Amino acid sequence: MKRRDFLNTVVVGAAATHPLSQGLAQAAPDVPAAALPRANWLWNGIIQAEGQHEPYVFVVRRGGQRLDAYQEYERAQSEEVIRTLKEQGVEIFETHFYKGSGMKAEMPDMEETKRAAEIAHRYGLRVSTYIQWNTMMYETFFAEEPRAKDWIQRDVLGMPILLTYGYQQSFRYRPCFANQEYLDYLKRIVRYAVEEVKTDFIDFDNFGLNPEPDSCHCPACVQGFRKFLQAKYSPEKRRERFGFETVDFINPPQWNRDNPPEQMEIIYDPAIQEWVDYRCQMMADALHQIAAYAKSLNPEVVIEINPHGITGGNRAWEAGLDHARLLKWTETYVTEESDTADYLPDGRLVSKIRSYKLARAFQNVLEPIPTDSLDMAECLAFNHTISWVNNYPLEPYVLPYVAFYRKYRDLYVGTEDVTPVAVLRSYPSITYHNARAQLSAILVEQALIQARIPFALIFDEHVAELSDYQVVVLPDSECLSDAQLSSIRRFVQNGGGLVATEEAGLYDEWRRLRVEPGLRGLVDVQTPASAYEETVASAASQHGPPAHKEVGKGRVVYLPEVQFDGPLPAPEPYFSISNRFWKLPKTWREIVEAVQWASKQDLPISVTGPSYLVMNLVRQKDKRRMFVHLVNYNVKNVESIPSINVRCTLPRGETAKGVQVYSPDLATPAPLNFATRGSTASFTVPQVATYSVVAVSW
Ligand SMILES: [Zn+2]
Repeated sequence: MKRRDFLNTVVVGAAATHPLSQGLAQAAPDVPAAALPRANWLWNGIIQAEGQHEPYVFVVRRGGQRLDAYQEYERAQSEEVIRTLKEQGVEIFETHFYKGSGMKAEMPDMEETKRAAEIAHRYGLRVSTYIQWNTMMYETFFAEEPRAKDWIQRDVLGMPILLTYGYQQSFRYRPCFANQEYLDYLKRIVRYAVEEVKTDFIDFDNFGLNPEPDSCHCPACVQGFRKFLQAKYSPEKRRERFGFETVDFINPPQWNRDNPPEQMEIIYDPAIQEWVDYRCQMMADALHQIAAYAKSLNPEVVIEINPHGITGGNRAWEAGLDHARLLKWTETYVTEESDTADYLPDGRLVSKIRSYKLARAFQNVLEPIPTDSLDMAECLAFNHTISWVNNYPLEPYVLPYVAFYRKYRDLYVGTEDVTPVAVLRSYPSITYHNARAQLSAILVEQALIQARIPFALIFDEHVAELSDYQVVVLPDSECLSDAQLSSIRRFVQNGGGLVATEEAGLYDEWRRLRVEPGLRGLVDVQTPASAYEETVASAASQHGPPAHKEVGKGRVVYLPEVQFDGPLPAPEPYFSISNRFWKLPKTWREIVEAVQWASKQDLPISVTGPSYLVMNLVRQKDKRRMFVHLVNYNVKNVESIPSINVRCTLPRGETAKGVQVYSPDLATPAPLNFATRGSTASFTVPQVATYSVVAVSW
């Protein structure tokens, strides 16, 4: 228990150190140290806006533009726009750089970027350049580089794979990221951005692959897949995996009319499982290579991608994306998810909190697309910086938040999350059985969000070292490896709390049914699960009370069921646990009580209030302060939430010296009366309109 000395009980999530907290990266032993240097200037936070990100050649080729589109394009990168954004508080100016037409076709636009970057730098702004990761506009590209015909993604019939949006954009092929010649070409673009434009920040947009059957079957991928299997497994392991050793003839999966990929509910086939893994790894390796190249030219260049965040979709299966692999090579990531912060009449509380927590787990900053002041509040509470504020001119709701952040920036810089609870997002469980495993993850997260229990999201690699948490939750984490199960047992024996639900631990990491339940001894009452089924039976609901057990120095609660509050929709293609499901589960009290019992009733914070009041807890250890962030998700109906009682526990032996509330909704910060008992401070926040942050110093 490395940091048990901080609070009376352990509270600091190891995986949650913030990128803005300089020097804290080494305090996260669970996460392998990023091999790439990180941009130092980023620790001070982000306020980023764009002129516009489309080069003129693309605006014309796409069609439908206004007749004055060129004048608009010129204006978006003009000195006037850059100066105005600077005056509004923006610190990073983003502009177009490369869209995928080939360097020759885009050189006039790239020269314009260089000119605009010089202006922005003269005004003291950082410059971010948009680079399209995933488009090859063949009409100009092939003219420039005839070999590029072999660099594109091709389906099983050899047809080029296109983008999935835009409808009329069949001129946009997807390049193949297993093709080294294409990656070498991309490096030339990156070099121009770093050396000629002197960019501070590269934004790789459109980071993802198409769902099946649109996966690449080009020679580089077919051979790459076979080599991947050979490198990943010994001959003995391949025999265990496939029943044979020779993988020289294995192809990427194929589909037919009776078996469309989007209707597959559980992925059993080892070759399909491995193909999903291959696609994820190919994307991560390509990103690693390009990011390392950019950093070799200038280690202070920030690397950003746009893979979107946690939206409820099965991202590995559908898009070849495993955030846990990608975000090691990035410092910021974009999500364009439309999960605008809101509390809806049907009781759903929609947020991007999961995506923020994903960012924090890998020391990234999130760049979402804000739409109103509640989005801005959520961003300050969970991102601890302003981040992306859209384009020129900034909208009125943005300005007070930018001004507030710039005035009280020291409340946000260098904070780390205080997360006594960890929720596992198990890659194999969610990838191979999204409709069940992700539903449980979403519902458990939702219960903790709305009950104001601070938690971290953890990923498979983090299970190896759990000692920084009080409670670990396994929400229907079906597929756990032997090593993970051992680590979980050790954690409980040593005093940790475990909350396991439904089929947690009943399968191994290849989703083979365990003969002995993986958590046997910790959990006694699990219903037996199924092995291979030709047709997946609709899951029978498991009813039953929570089962409590003390094991070693720790506590375990098993919940047979995490129940959605309402009828579940019938299976549908690519079933997604989208924000249709983001409301308190029917069994939310059981979940909350289980976490509290497993923690020995010793969580470091409690905050009263309605279920649309959300809380986040962070600290600045060096400045001897904790921060309780409070956001009213129902501000459109309830202008102000009164009398919020807070009790929070400071580091052992410390006593609160002051409590101060700050808010963009208040004219000035206000001190609050507080009581202390030992290292616990209690106080009442008189009201929260949209957003307040309370600093408790010791
Ligand atoms: Zn390919």
